[in-house]
Amino acid sequence: MSGKNVTEVRLADAEGIAEAARILESGGLVAVPTETVYGLAARADSAEAVAKIYTAKGRPDFNPLIVHVRGVEQARELAELPHQADVIADLVWPAPLTMVVPLRPGANLAPAVTAGLPTVALRSPNHPVMQALLAACPFPLAAPSANRSGFVSPTSAAHVLATLDGRIDLVLDDGRPCAEGLESTIVAIRTDGSWEELRPGPINLDALHQHYWDEPYPRAGRGERSRIEAPGQLASHYAPGKPLRLNAEWAEPDEFLIGFGAVEGDVTLSAGGNLDEAASRLYAALHEAARAPEPRIAVAPVPEKGVGRAINDRLRRAAA
Ligand code: AMP
Ligand code: MG
Repeated sequence: MSGKNVTEVRLADAEGIAEAARILESGGLVAVPTETVYGLAARADSAEAVAKIYTAKGRPDFNPLIVHVRGVEQARELAELPHQADVIADLVWPAPLTMVVPLRPGANLAPAVTAGLPTVALRSPNHPVMQALLAACPFPLAAPSANRSGFVSPTSAAHVLATLDGRIDLVLDDGRPCAEGLESTIVAIRTDGSWEELRPGPINLDALHQHYWDEPYPRAGRGERSRIEAPGQLASHYAPGKPLRLNAEWAEPDEFLIGFGAVEGDVTLSAGGNLDEAASRLYAALHEAARAPEPRIAVAPVPEKGVGRAINDRLRRAAA
């Protein structure tokens, strides 16, 4: 708990953002809209504030947090950016792209943020509210998704309250669902120039690398990936709390069906088969399925291309 049992909800306007900055300054927790999902922010330079994130979420403490920054200059204060990471940060941010890079020795970050690793995960979010908040704060913000650990990620203020009401100080309500709707792509970029996708997401790494370097990205060799490098990639990370059947063309009588394209469901990710639309609606559909009377959930097949890879990654975890 962050010392209160009432969670305030405010419109994400200038006054709301100013109040959020004050709460963060004094070490509190604020849920903030981003283009991916709502984040649960705390000042990343305070061990006490960061500890509250782990407590409020019930998050295992070996699972490090993404640090949100205004842009590349603030990133350089926290990390020794490998050349390609520096180029990408400069050109691509703000974007739903997180880079895991070497931590700068002496960087002013609470050790719990990186779970004691020699690397840090950095992202500059492409959302006016989160950017305004970062501009108002003289410190970076650690922010995982604003949900109890193991539950479905939130794409609306109501989703945040569903699991964190009474456990955090404030929710900034953007009044509309998060545009991307899926967590950021995470890539480790090493000093030797190798890249490794740690989590698929809205940014396609092959397309990105091809665009700037005119060739597919140099993947790290097999076996180089250490167990601690993607500690948050827990199988049950996105669970809706009911059995979930994938690649369903129809619903059994006890199933709530999430449709896609030609498969009509109780709700649909995208009737027209649009993957971007499906990504933005995925978590709202899972929240609705979790609340429905049916004891089981079925989901129509989603093609394994573009952001469909990230959708299927989250669905497989939800089914695990
Ligand atoms: P989320 O739960 O959406 O906040 O995801 C954050 C994820 O970023 C974690 O679960 C880790 O998998 C990853 N991450 C954060 N920091 C690091 C790091 N230093 N090294 C590797 N992965 C990291
Ligand atoms: Mg999460």
